[in-house]
Amino acid sequence: MDGRALKEARFMSTETPLELKKTVNLPKTSFAQKANLGQSEPARLKKWAEMGLYELIQRSREGREKFVLHDGPPYANADIHLGTALNKILKDLVVRTRTMMGYDAPYVPGYDCHGLPIEQHVERALDKKGKKKSDLSLESFRRACREHASNALKSQTRDFKRLGILGLWENPYLTMSNEYEAETARLFGRFVERGYVYKGARPVYWCIHDQTALAEAEVEYREHTSPSVYVKFPLAEDALDAKAFKRELLGDEDDPRRVFFLIWTTTPWTLPSNLGIAVNPQFDYAAIETNGEVYIVADELVETLTEKLSLGEPKVLTRFMGARLERLEARHAWLDRPSLLMVGDHVTLGGEADAETELDVSEARPREATGKAGTGLVHTAPGHGHDDFVIGKSYGLEIYCPVDNAGRFTPEVEHFAGESVFEANPHIVEFMRERGVLLFAEDYAHRYPHCWRCKNPVIFRATPQWFISLDAASGDAPEVETDDDGRDRSNFTDNEEATPESLRDMAVREIGAVEWFPTWGEGRMRNMLKGRPDWCVSRQRVWGVPIPAFYCSGCDAIVANASVINHVAGIFERESSDAWYTRTATELLPEGFACEGCGGREFTKETDILDVWFDSGSSSVAVLEKYGELRWPADVYLEGGDQYRGWFNSSLMIGLAAHDRAPYKSVLTHGWVINVQGQKMSKSEGTGISPNEVVKDSGAEILRLWVASSVFYEDVRCSDEILQRASDAYRKMRNTARFALGNLDGFDSARDAVSLPEMLEIDRWALAELDGVIARVIEGYRAYEFHTAYHALYNFCTVTLSARYFDIIKDRLYTAAPRSHARRSAQTALNHIADALARLLAPILVFTADEIWENLPDVKNGSASLPPSVHAAEFPLALSAGRDAGMLERWSRMFDVRDTVLRTLEGARVEKLIGSSLEAHVRVETKRKTYELLQQYREELRYLFIVSQVSLTILDEADAEELRVRVERAEGQKCERCWNYSARVGEFTRYPSACERCVEALAEIEAEGSAA
Ligand SMILES: [Zn+2]
Ligand SMILES: [Zn+2]
Ligand SMILES: [Zn+2]
Repeated sequence: MDGRALKEARFMSTETPLELKKTVNLPKTSFAQKANLGQSEPARLKKWAEMGLYELIQRSREGREKFVLHDGPPYANADIHLGTALNKILKDLVVRTRTMMGYDAPYVPGYDCHGLPIEQHVERALDKKGKKKSDLSLESFRRACREHASNALKSQTRDFKRLGILGLWENPYLTMSNEYEAETARLFGRFVERGYVYKGARPVYWCIHDQTALAEAEVEYREHTSPSVYVKFPLAEDALDAKAFKRELLGDEDDPRRVFFLIWTTTPWTLPSNLGIAVNPQFDYAAIETNGEVYIVADELVETLTEKLSLGEPKVLTRFMGARLERLEARHAWLDRPSLLMVGDHVTLGGEADAETELDVSEARPREATGKAGTGLVHTAPGHGHDDFVIGKSYGLEIYCPVDNAGRFTPEVEHFAGESVFEANPHIVEFMRERGVLLFAEDYAHRYPHCWRCKNPVIFRATPQWFISLDAASGDAPEVETDDDGRDRSNFTDNEEATPESLRDMAVREIGAVEWFPTWGEGRMRNMLKGRPDWCVSRQRVWGVPIPAFYCSGCDAIVANASVINHVAGIFERESSDAWYTRTATELLPEGFACEGCGGREFTKETDILDVWFDSGSSSVAVLEKYGELRWPADVYLEGGDQYRGWFNSSLMIGLAAHDRAPYKSVLTHGWVINVQGQKMSKSEGTGISPNEVVKDSGAEILRLWVASSVFYEDVRCSDEILQRASDAYRKMRNTARFALGNLDGFDSARDAVSLPEMLEIDRWALAELDGVIARVIEGYRAYEFHTAYHALYNFCTVTLSARYFDIIKDRLYTAAPRSHARRSAQTALNHIADALARLLAPILVFTADEIWENLPDVKNGSASLPPSVHAAEFPLALSAGRDAGMLERWSRMFDVRDTVLRTLEGARVEKLIGSSLEAHVRVETKRKTYELLQQYREELRYLFIVSQVSLTILDEADAEELRVRVERAEGQKCERCWNYSARVGEFTRYPSACERCVEALAEIEAEGSAA
């Protein structure tokens, strides 16, 4: 029998022939082409809520190794912005990827609820109603603050959930909850117990607008213009060493020429508080003579100063080391008091310190001995600068600060009493000019610290504050400090459990033990810590956790010890910290409490509250140790780079006080969201993109895709165009999934799957490629390189699958008999691919991956081994499909040939030689090696190239070309069913418009039909 007779004979049916187009297996799926995320996402969120997805996942991971990401609490004040969205999505990516690696990775979100911005918000709201804060009782005011925070956190929670962030949203931690406030108070008690707390006057950042101390993290540096002045401080001629010094300089102690120390400052208002002048003991200084006066300046700066101050042609009289000046005395430039010459290494000549490096955050005044602008002699006011305080303290100077809360000079300041310091600046400059003590003045633009809330410039001002000492160690009695009223406030700690290490030493050790991503985080953290002064933890506000301390009315002693603090914390736990304001001191103290010093029973309450960074820093203990599913320390903290000096730091301090250890094993940071011009996104400046609007218009998936595709530890760009690109990528990946699902209609893996060795080689090739992608994606996730995971997935979807594999198998899937081995082989591969895609995409495209999952045949069939949501599943395992070592190699070469063929076909299409590629007959000429490879796959080639006919010829080795491709029109007729061209169309009587391949398939279909 010839072929035709065989084919004809196969048709046993006496029924009428099938309608050809009904025999094509067109894709069918309820996985829609158009995602409609704006509607489908909320519907899926509702479904997750109903099925209790978070709890379901938690249950499925019971007993597994834990992985704890501890949430840094966002501030419960305003709506979320793009930066908040980035932060939360990144955390969600970490938690979800670890969950899918099989860890038990709970996520307890939190909110930072206390603090100044909320107070200000409530004050503004009162203002609108024509009321003042003082019209309300403190309890009522705090109630209004609490309400504001509650409302803000509710709306943030709604927005975070909408972004697909999965966690314990029913029970987030709130820094204003009773339990949390109680724990915050107890942790303060812990610092007291270990001897780290003291109260004293120290210069701290002070906002004269908000009238409160500010933490390092609460100031930001902005451009500011200050008056830069060069001022003469005369040598005190009557002081002890003055005569000897003058003799050295001028050769005669009675020389009539006057000697001046030249200082430079950009804060003239601190000059009334000047008590000293600092020089560097190692530098050379020069005495120069001009116009009959002698000036002492740094030798290296003589030339610059001569020019700047128009000193003519000064004569250098002598040079000496800075050390020579120590303890000499100058007179204040205009006040009747001395100014002491001191030596210190903080005096530099190296240009104005970069105020924004973490090292120098303590410098509210720019370093003054600086570069071209300085003189090498630093005006020192111990009440108005950190370095000034430190050196002043070591020389026994008073911590003098004649400036009140509102930034006005107190009455003792001659000439300027009552003036606000910034307003006084020009008056002081004028005053000095008139007195002849000013050599030069000019405007000076520099970076200067401003209040993060009200954006006004801040000052450095010494006030009585509560401090946590970074350097007190080994149960050192805290420094004896005397506050404003001269009361001794040192003897309130109990040092039973002192540790031999200071917080700073412990911190340095722990920073080395933590893993930092990116690695430069470690250096930043170290630098931040190095220059950091003691932590000022008191704030003169009301919306926060009160510092649980009392003052004895009899003897002024401070009562603040662990047992009293823990007693108060117990009351906070029952009644919230409002109790501090609603109860009397007696009601708050243990029953029958009496002063140890004087036996008195009358006490007053401290009015300051704790720094909000103390609140949020307490979370490691107040949350990780209180929620049963969490544990201390956390595996990961993940926040913006501004948190090195913020939350990472306060959390570290509290971890050290509580457990001598860092509360985190690793710390990740992300950059800022910036626009395409590289500017920080800001809603107020109109450059912002609202995450809620993006979600509404395009879907949360698009934002999540944007985050996953970004290199998050650098600044992250966002724009409408960038989001559009994410949308396009989304659409492509969705279509890839849709193709796979559409061709799996009716597939039952238990019944239909083909075993790996029996699969067609191209299908095994696809699975081998999938193995590679699984490995790359999981490795990317593990290393927090979400963008590499994303790119691996995107390329797999668009190149490996859409442009290659799917293109090639389409014909087989559509035209082979539905149950044929060839089709089942492709479907088996597709089933693996769709399953793996759902799992690998799940952490990023949380909604879409779950939708893919639901449409997997095995999930639809209710396979017992598959959870109802992809989010409870785990990452796929590699199938080891690439064990045939040469296979990937061979196919890679075949795809090279294919690329050339496709290019040639495209050319033929442009020249209108062919329309569809199926109208082509491709003639491939190639040299032996490639020829032999192609020859092996001879029958596959037409499918690989998607043409009707392929012929192969061998090229002579001497030929210049390696590969030559020609396109001709295919021979024969177009098959009505598969659109391939064949010379045999018309040969088959039952199906005269079908090709020989289709006729064979039709025979199978008819047989299947009659068997069914
Ligand atoms: Zn302010
Ligand atoms: Zn007393
Ligand atoms: Zn056909």
